Amino acid sequence: MEGIGLLAREAGFAVAGVARPRPLDEDERAFARWIGRSFHGTMRFLEREPERRFRPETLLASARSVIVLGVPYFPGDPPAPSGAHARVSMFAWGKDYHEIIGGRLSALISRLRERFGAKAAFRPFVDAGPVAEKSWAREAGIGGIGKNTLLIAPGVGSYVFLAVVLTDLELWSRTPPFPLSPLPLSASRDPCGGCTLCLDACPTRALVEPRVLDARRCISYLTIEHRGEIDPALAGRMGDWAYGCDVCQEVCPHNPAGTIADEPEFWPSAGPGSHLPLDAAEGLSEGAFRKKFGGTSLARAGRRRIARNLEIVRKNIAGESVNG
Ligand code: SF4
Ligand code: SF4
Repeated sequence: MEGIGLLAREAGFAVAGVARPRPLDEDERAFARWIGRSFHGTMRFLEREPERRFRPETLLASARSVIVLGVPYFPGDPPAPSGAHARVSMFAWGKDYHEIIGGRLSALISRLRERFGAKAAFRPFVDAGPVAEKSWAREAGIGGIGKNTLLIAPGVGSYVFLAVVLTDLELWSRTPPFPLSPLPLSASRDPCGGCTLCLDACPTRALVEPRVLDARRCISYLTIEHRGEIDPALAGRMGDWAYGCDVCQEVCPHNPAGTIADEPEFWPSAGPGSHLPLDAAEGLSEGAFRKKFGGTSLARAGRRRIARNLEIVRKNIAGESVNG
């Protein structure tokens, strides 16, 4: 491991690569078509300045490298709880990753400054800025984008938090990705071949084509992003998911062989865990809910949405739903 690979590892990233900034015209056109079909639902913020996602110089005028970092979070399969419970997507089992990854990015930038000089410019992003992380991860040679729309790193899988740092340092010419892909870059760009397991397994048929997600039908969007009532026909297909959905990752053959993360902060014991009791939001004010789930991803969604989701799960388990 050379170059920034070692520095990234020291800062807590198990996956890293560096891409040369260039306009990703093909990705930008695909994104425009996706927005044009209204597949982003009510996430109107995605409509703003879409070119920023695919043109790093619009975010950092002096950008000469796009550093992509990853932290695998798959802690292994959880024990099944007894009684009726609602499921939580694996990314949210432990602490909220935004702060943890943000701290690691700061540590990496400090190390880069020590090594390359205090005047170097950096702009970090953790799933909150207008950066197409998955596209840049592919450009950096970390992996390919699967038909489930997620970045799949060969030998690691898709349960990976991604982050990006733009810098005016030229690092791309001397930094191989790590862990090194066992596949040549051309092969890792399509990790799927003839497989369609995720498209077939999606409970709401949200993957309308390979690599095209209609977020309006996706359980992750509905349970986390969507405000207000959920279409009863879709709610009936949510099964026992109360926060997010992992079905299209659970069926992916890249994941069982993927990395088991040695990250106690993401283990179920550090947060809400893999399952919620159906009455987890009952009798709580918004403030009490945020206190109970403080520092976890659930606090971001708020009590009202989690209570709505838990009620849907209760109906689904009781067979009271439209499609229950
Ligand atoms: S997260 Fe769930 S609902 Fe969304 S595309 Fe994947 S399987 Fe379908
Ligand atoms: S389940 Fe199959 S088609 Fe879907 S992302 Fe994984 S390898 Fe690709």
